[in-house]
Amino acid sequence: MERLDGGRLAGKVTLVTGSARGQGAAEARLFAAEGAEAVYVTDVLDTEGEATAAAIGAVATYRHLDVTDEEAWTALVAEILERHGRIDVLVNNAGIFRVMPTALTSEAEYRLIVDVNQVGTFLGMKAVIPCMVAAESGSIVNISSVAGLQGAAGTMAYAASKWAVRGMTKVAAKEVAPFGVRVNSVHPGIIDTPMMTEASPEGGLLERVVRAIPMGHVAEADDVARLVLYLASDDSRYSTGAEFVVDGGMTA
Ligand code: NAD
Repeated sequence: MERLDGGRLAGKVTLVTGSARGQGAAEARLFAAEGAEAVYVTDVLDTEGEATAAAIGAVATYRHLDVTDEEAWTALVAEILERHGRIDVLVNNAGIFRVMPTALTSEAEYRLIVDVNQVGTFLGMKAVIPCMVAAESGSIVNISSVAGLQGAAGTMAYAASKWAVRGMTKVAAKEVAPFGVRVNSVHPGIIDTPMMTEASPEGGLLERVVRAIPMGHVAEADDVARLVLYLASDDSRYSTGAEFVVDGGMTA
């Protein structure tokens, strides 16, 4: 899928967390197809991550990155800066999802979800903001959810983390806008990825939720990746601190 005009991310150095599979992998593939100079595929699933990067080709590099580990963030950012001199795009995509009623949610489970989805996003922004501000350029895309726009029963911890991501995006956007760096949040509806199949081991979840989607079908990971590409690229150069919904009309 090589483009003669160099693509919408030509020359950009990009990093996508949780990109061994699902939406993150779709974003990494699209970034490479759109001419990115480098695509860092990162995850805690090393075998899948290595395979995803290998399938993308030479512009992709897999690195183990647990987004809750600040030292790992520091080391990876240093490595990328050493090799490329800059980071143009960070997608904070890594996330975990569990469905359980509030009264049955353990403190440990609550803290785990907040740790990955919320603290992980904070650590990612913290790690790349200094080099983006120094370069006076950069785009951070934080993956929230429709669960960060409205309440859904059984998602106390997940919703807390995704509402936090939405708010943190606005704080960071205002801090770094004077330095040419943009930060936006993306709010996917129901996307057909391993997260959804794992949330419903007995199956049928996707079929059940389709009824709540005005467009009548769930989305593919690529549907989200196209929006993330827009936000990563200079096409969205006047958008920051904003919420971008890709949900087939669910929250209309
Ligand atoms: P997925 O489970 O396929 O992908 C999530 C990835 O994050 C996995 O590869 C997983 O290994 C990785 N991950 C988990 N914990 C990590 C950690 N500590 N450090 C690094 N990586 C870690 O699911 P997906 O649908 O592709 O999810 C991507 C993002 O989209 C998530 O933030 C999710 O909350 C969000 N989202 C998903 C849906 C949906 O319907 N699938 C809807 C709205 C929002």
